[in-house]
Amino acid sequence: MAYTNGIVSAQCKQPLLSFGVISDVQYADIPDGRSFLGVPRYYRHSILVLQRAVQKWNEQKPKFVINFGDIIDGFCPKDQSLSAIKKVIDEFNVFNGPVYHMIGNHCLYNLPREKLLQMLNIPSIDGLAYYDFSPIPEYRIVVLDGYDISAIGWPKDHEKTLKALNFLRERNPNSDKNSPNGLVGLERRFLMFNGAVGKEQLEWLDHVLQDATNSNQKVVVCCHLPLDPGAATKEALLWNYDEVMYVIHRYNCVKACLAGHDHKGGHSVDSHGIHHRVLEAALECPPGTDAFGLVNLFDDRLQLAGADRMESQEMVFSC
Ligand SMILES: [Zn+2]
Repeated sequence: MAYTNGIVSAQCKQPLLSFGVISDVQYADIPDGRSFLGVPRYYRHSILVLQRAVQKWNEQKPKFVINFGDIIDGFCPKDQSLSAIKKVIDEFNVFNGPVYHMIGNHCLYNLPREKLLQMLNIPSIDGLAYYDFSPIPEYRIVVLDGYDISAIGWPKDHEKTLKALNFLRERNPNSDKNSPNGLVGLERRFLMFNGAVGKEQLEWLDHVLQDATNSNQKVVVCCHLPLDPGAATKEALLWNYDEVMYVIHRYNCVKACLAGHDHKGGHSVDSHGIHHRVLEAALECPPGTDAFGLVNLFDDRLQLAGADRMESQEMVFSC
């Protein structure tokens, strides 16, 4: 252990801020199943993972919790969508503090985005679900809406639906737009279950990062969809992850990007030294196991203390 003038080194310091994280609960009251790739999915057990997460967080007392989206599964019978979402929200509400939500594709298979935003209490302008907050002066949390331009969630004749369908038509020749057949390399992200950040949201992000820079704040960006090919499978990436990262790389304030959606989880450090961490899904925890965590933010690093299948990790900032 290193000491400086009798003060314990950074390794032992108290974090500036702690918050709970969980992703892809994808609860449904249906028998266990498998993903397209054959990975087992435990639809009924996942809400027990959430219950244990909340119990743990209530002991650890983080300042808030962030849910990375997909709280119910697309296979949830549609006449149960509302009650299933309510059931999951009720579990989150057992946490003694604020819970910040984001929406994922599976949420949007069940309910229109307008209804979801209202139920999840997501701050919104024009039906969009991006926002930021500064829980302590040193840090800002930015939550992106990865389904801003999307073929799911908006009304069928909405300009964003049409724009997304057009975008997909130009890039994915398959009749099933969720199939990456024939798509090569990074093109494999052009699937219907993904989406994009729109122009106005990009401008907003630019403004927020400028403001954070002026205020000498470090930023953690959260998005349901991963933003770096090194941290996720190509099929899981945000359609315009490159445009989002172009904005982020103009500044030096973003230290880490956290995401869900790609259930196996992942990590990378990009060309600008930003950490990208994809969180392991609660849905794929075999009965009795867990995937949730506590993020501890220090001046110089982000520490993820994960339970069971969520791998613990220390991410030291490059500068
Ligand atoms: Zn998802």
